[in-house]
Amino acid sequence: MSDDTAPLTPMPLRVLAGRIAHEWSTRSKIFDLPNARIWRPDADIDLGIEFLGRPCATPIGPAAGPHSQMAQNLVLAWLGGSRLFELKTVQVIDDLEIARPCIDMETIGYNTEWSQELSVPASIDEYVGAALLIAALSRWEPLAEHLGPDPGRHVFDMSVGYDLAGISTNKVAGFISTMRNASAVIERMRTELASVPAMAHLADVDLDPCIADTLTLSTFHGCPPDEIHAIVTHLIDVHDLDVIVKLNPTLLGIDTVTQILHDELGYRDLQLRQSAFDDDLTFDRGIELIEDLSAYAAARGHRFGIKLTNTMVVGNHRGLLGDDPMYMSGPPLHVLASTLCDRLATALPGRLAIPGHDGDIMVSFSAGVTRSNLADTLAMGANPATICSDLLKPGGYGRLAPMLRDLAGTIAADGCADLTSWRAHRQEAAVAEGYASSCARHVAHVRSDGIEAYHLDGNSKLPRSVDHDLDMFGCVACNFCITVCPNDAFFSIRTPDGSGLEARQQYLVYAELCNECGNCLGFCPERGDPAMIKPRLFTDPELFAAREGQGFLVIDGAVVDYRGDEDSARIVGDLLASPTGDPLGGAGR
Ligand code: SF4
Ligand code: SF4
Repeated sequence: MSDDTAPLTPMPLRVLAGRIAHEWSTRSKIFDLPNARIWRPDADIDLGIEFLGRPCATPIGPAAGPHSQMAQNLVLAWLGGSRLFELKTVQVIDDLEIARPCIDMETIGYNTEWSQELSVPASIDEYVGAALLIAALSRWEPLAEHLGPDPGRHVFDMSVGYDLAGISTNKVAGFISTMRNASAVIERMRTELASVPAMAHLADVDLDPCIADTLTLSTFHGCPPDEIHAIVTHLIDVHDLDVIVKLNPTLLGIDTVTQILHDELGYRDLQLRQSAFDDDLTFDRGIELIEDLSAYAAARGHRFGIKLTNTMVVGNHRGLLGDDPMYMSGPPLHVLASTLCDRLATALPGRLAIPGHDGDIMVSFSAGVTRSNLADTLAMGANPATICSDLLKPGGYGRLAPMLRDLAGTIAADGCADLTSWRAHRQEAAVAEGYASSCARHVAHVRSDGIEAYHLDGNSKLPRSVDHDLDMFGCVACNFCITVCPNDAFFSIRTPDGSGLEARQQYLVYAELCNECGNCLGFCPERGDPAMIKPRLFTDPELFAAREGQGFLVIDGAVVDYRGDEDSARIVGDLLASPTGDPLGGAGR
């Protein structure tokens, strides 16, 4: 990792659209996602849900985080079948310094990430740009056979943080109002789309100027309950929004969390901090808050929901990440969040909108959701199930479509044709087995002995490694650096015949899309950091000049300047000029 981290620099919509068209024609991929991993709805199984009353054609999507930060991330998630997008949290401090690396997915999953790394105006451009690209791709003829006749409705859900003072600023208020009516931004984006020959005819595609009118509140760990109450009422009264409040797993109390993580699941290395519990909402106060806010929203004609859960604060016992504490996610968080869901449902009888309770408080769920537990998570009543840790594993966004195919298969195998009736079927089955609800049944399952998927024993194996130092050209070509990167910063080029290079593929990275999160470093089998060792391409002369270390400035598909040796510059130039070469098709900023 470099000492000074490069700022993320999004590619303009015009470049992204050109990349889509060029990659599709030369590689049958979009942002490195192969056509076989594009979700095509099953005409016989309706996976649709309602999110705060708005229809979503599938019940999954990226959780607010690295997969919902940039336009290409959102497009990738949509292609994989996501139809609910929790946009990355926007806050008043929009020039964050985050210690790197900030993602450690080698085992269960830890991070020290925070909110959007882009400025508020740049965030708006990414979110609105993604909405326009998705609308255009829905109608783009080459994708029709892969998407099917109707890709279905989707919802963008805003997220803001972290306190009332920040949320009340003009900057954050302006973000919310622009997302509610983005007409001016959309018009600017349409002009960019019109300049891309393969997409120009879609520049006037239908797009609702209201990009988002729901919001998930992210609060600091330790945010006082009165502050949460004040923020939610502000969002309802001032911004006329339906709101979800993200809750912390600390609501379970330190005794229960210790029992689950240390005693039941075996994660005795996890350093829980009493202060994290002392500062956070207690369970009883949390119940009062949910009741109060639900009543407040209902009295004003708004919907209200809770999200389970935020990550769990733990000490940095692994020493890989650049900050302390760090935030735990993955399988053990799934057990905590499921347990919390069951406890809240029991303490709020008839209030949560989950099977067996059938209330009106929607439960959004984001905690260690995977292909193997998605169906059980949805059977609990999760609406939607959003995903982060699993998408940071090899396969990345390509893991989404198989999840949905499995889900559709499970629903069909149970003799149902839609998610809603299947949930009722699963609830009946759970009651017949003696459980109060599907949720209680799932909790009993994930906390029972011998379930390796959640236990330390099933989550302690490190990624595979080989005894070889990573070189700029040539490697074992596992493709992991491409798929684990949330920003699609990496790409590959087939090694041209007669080049003299070893390996069938060469890997290169758009340095401007890399925030040095460290995820590719964690999964690369060779010794070394792919994001620093593989050729680092720049498309912006100023950014190229501002950086140090090896790098290649690429304009119109050709290397026009470089730092490093002449041979490497020649090889990069040859690779970009080869038949499947430059993914941008020669487009530049
Ligand atoms: S290239 Fe690697 S370090 Fe950079 S953003 Fe992608 S995964 Fe993170
Ligand atoms: S750089 Fe590492 S992660 Fe990327 S393809 Fe090569 S060996 Fe795999």
